[in-house]
Amino acid sequence: MSSFLPSPPTRRIVLILGLGAGVSLGAASAALAKTPKSAVGYQTRPSGANACASCTSFLPAADPAQAGACKIVDGEIPPTGWCALYARKAG
Ligand code: SF4
Repeated sequence: MSSFLPSPPTRRIVLILGLGAGVSLGAASAALAKTPKSAVGYQTRPSGANACASCTSFLPAADPAQAGACKIVDGEIPPTGWCALYARKAG
């Protein structure tokens, strides 16, 4: 059976493969880290005076009229939405 690795693998190749695996796992865990909307009572309308636009976790789109994102909740997040993790920005 042939292998693309020299036999035995050099220390440099082992290090490169290990770093690559670590980067891939880090990216995968970051992608999985967000909470689904269904788990946090997300709604597309504000809750009283509270809405995503004034939440510390909201990441607005370049065009403020478009849906943005959230640091902790998955999916597109319009500025007029709300969820149970809402935390008002200071100021
Ligand atoms: S945590 Fe909830 S309320 Fe705050 S921006 Fe994200 S989805 Fe909106």
